[in-house]
Amino acid sequence: MGVYHGPKCKLCRREGVRLYLKGERCYSEKCAIEVRAYPPGEHGQGRRPRRPTPYGTQLREKQKARRIYGVMERQFRNYFTKAARRQGVTGEILLQLLEMRFDNTVYRLGFAASRAAARQLIRHRHFTVNGKITDIPSYSLRAGDLIEVRPNAKKLEAIKDTFENRRRTEDQPWLEIDDKELRARVMQVPDRDQIPVPVQEQLIVELYSK
Ligand code: SF4
Repeated sequence: MGVYHGPKCKLCRREGVRLYLKGERCYSEKCAIEVRAYPPGEHGQGRRPRRPTPYGTQLREKQKARRIYGVMERQFRNYFTKAARRQGVTGEILLQLLEMRFDNTVYRLGFAASRAAARQLIRHRHFTVNGKITDIPSYSLRAGDLIEVRPNAKKLEAIKDTFENRRRTEDQPWLEIDDKELRARVMQVPDRDQIPVPVQEQLIVELYSK
């Protein structure tokens, strides 16, 4: 599946919120949302914001979710189709599917500073799931899965330092972390209130249900 490789800060400026796509920089005063608090592009500055249409609002919400998780349109649509087939609240299931991606979970655990960094570490085969090397960032985890940093990778600064300096406020109740062994177990599928993303998922459901 494809991945967006273009400028990341532009995506946040377009959505008007921090999407935390660049690790530590996102928490600093260098964050582009602070420095250039207007939409990107030639006419971003100075133009009066237009009143969004209902479609525009729904579209922006979908784009925001897609950009937070780093998922391309087709894959995102597949997640929605899967969520719509399941019993329950479609929007919540959609977010749960995204949250249970392997790259997101590695990021939530604090082994990587961003989901993009997590994807790279996963592709470089630094993690196992239930004892098996897993190098697919979109891999869907399940409750009970055990994620481990492989022995040689435990010495990697990219993982060790990031983990030690991770923001404790981001600890996730649905993941049980063993700090010493650098491993974690997925205890449950996270509830909606355990998924800290600023997205109104109902708007995405409305968009795709037209
Ligand atoms: Fe977004 Fe991070 Fe860039 Fe700030 S620094 S605009 S949060 S990607």
